[in-house]
This record gives sequence, structure tokens and C-alpha cells, in this order.
Amino acid sequence: MKKLLILSGKGGTGKTTITNALIELFHPSGFADCDVDAPNLHLLRNNMKIKSEHIFYGMKLASIDHSLCIKCGLCYDHCAFNAIHKNEDFSINPFACDGCGLCERICPVKAIQMIDKEAGIIQLLQQNNQFFSTATLKIGSGNSGLLVTEVKKQLKNVIKSGLIIIDGSPGIGCPVIASLSEIDACLMVSEPTVSGFNDLKRIVITAQNVHPMIFVCVNKYDINEIITKQIEAYCEKEKLAFIGKIPYDSSIAHQQNQGNSVMDSSTRFSKSITSIYLEIKSRIGEYEI
Ligand code: SF4
Ligand code: SF4
Repeated sequence: MKKLLILSGKGGTGKTTITNALIELFHPSGFADCDVDAPNLHLLRNNMKIKSEHIFYGMKLASIDHSLCIKCGLCYDHCAFNAIHKNEDFSINPFACDGCGLCERICPVKAIQMIDKEAGIIQLLQQNNQFFSTATLKIGSGNSGLLVTEVKKQLKNVIKSGLIIIDGSPGIGCPVIASLSEIDACLMVSEPTVSGFNDLKRIVITAQNVHPMIFVCVNKYDINEIITKQIEAYCEKEKLAFIGKIPYDSSIAHQQNQGNSVMDSSTRFSKSITSIYLEIKSRIGEYEI
């Protein structure tokens, strides 16, 4: 089994649109949306049926039993995250609690317990032999890296061979690092803007730590051909495989909103995505899919 991860370094580059187009072309055994803070691949793959759904529990959080509390204030004094509030009673702010468990250990009357907290929903969808793993993190939950690992694990449990395509999170934070583990190849979708170019460099450095094959493409390359050339030159200097440029096409968003495939017609967009697909296929082929 091989895993191809799509990353962007920043939001708004068109990563999910390109991921969706590559899913159409590759027909992988499965795919996953690891952008758990703001998943949206399910909006484009809405023909799949839910096979299973369960609650995701992240780290345990502290909870005070006020019938036992003697209001000594030890927990309040020692919480390094200022997660314990002192009013009439001592109370825990669940958004600030880091789950370190110190207060539970030091409470002299065992009034504090670490309890499971619902952090999100994880779903497995299926159509014929193809699986789709996705999840949504609850607002205020900070376990996105853990949830990404669960999303990937769920897919690995049902797929034993073929290709998996993973839509990663934007940025370089915890969920991106979690999505990079055990990846064979990574497509970086950049855009020709100053921030897009800088974020590309940051995500490349992050990804290089786990040594996948790295491919780079530029979406909407024609909105700034000067920066596109700079990105190409950077890839050449860093020995990164620059595998394509996708033109800006204002009709793509409209087609997606209508529920149509962006690969249906022979537009410049679909031609350039097809060329990127063939390039990845031939290069990953060396990995013996
Ligand atoms: S578990 Fe740690 S972070 Fe949470 S309230 Fe207790 S001491 Fe503070
Ligand atoms: S350490 Fe225990 S008893 Fe003391 S204030 Fe905190 S919860 Fe109450």
C-alpha cells in the first residue's frame, strides 16, 4: 500500500479541489480528509454512504466534585495553565485545561478526576470498494493531531493494498505533522503569492524531516508568473520535483458548487491536472504501487 499526501502550507491554494480531481483520476483504494479543523472533502464526495461513525475522545480533562472539595486552593495555586478559576467554588475552564493531571494528584481529598471529553466525530464512508475516512473536531478542542492519527488509522484498518490519497491540513502545525507520518509521497500545492511561496518553503522543510518523495505544483500560476518562475527556480535549487502549473479558471468553483466534476470537460484546468496525475503516477511507480 502507498500513501500520497496533499499539502499546501497555507489555506486557499485550491488543495482540496486538486485532491478531489486526483481522486477521480487515480481511483485510489481509499482517501482521507485530515483537515480535521475544517473538513470539506465530504462536500465534494457526497455520493458515499456512512459505514461507521463514532465519537472521538481526546485527552482527559480535569473535573471537580464539589461535594468533596474542601476549598483548600492547592489545585488553583499549582495549575500552570491557569485553568482553575476561583469564585465561590473552584471550577475548571475546559478550554484552558491541558489535561496534565497535576491537580488530580495533589488534591488532598481526591475531589478531582480526569474524565473523557468528547472532542469530535470520526466517520468512515464507503462506495463499492472505495473507502473515505473523515472527521470533525469540536469547536474549542485542541487534539487535532490525535484525531488526524485516528482518521489515518481507520483507513489503514480497512485497506490493505493499493493507493491512499490524503488531503492534509493547511499550515505546518500539529495536524500536518501527524498527517506526514508513514507517507510515501507528498504533493505540495502552492500559489504564486508572496505568502504562498514563503509557506511552501516552510512546509517543504517540515516534510523533509520524514523523507517522502516531494512534488510541487503551482495552482493559479498565471495570476503572477514572476513568482511562479521564482517557485520553479527554488524547486530546481532544492532538487524538488516541480511537476506542473495549473491555470486560474473562474468556472471551477461554479462547477464544484453545482456538484459537477471538474474533470468532465477538456479545459486547461483538467488538462494540467491530468498531466500532474501522469507525472505522479510515473514517479510513484518507482515505489511499486
Ligand atoms: S489537569 Fe493540569 S491543566 Fe488541567 S486543571 Fe488540572 S493542573 Fe490545570
Ligand atoms: S485541591 Fe481539591 S480540595 Fe483543594 S480546592 Fe482543589 S479540588 Fe478543592
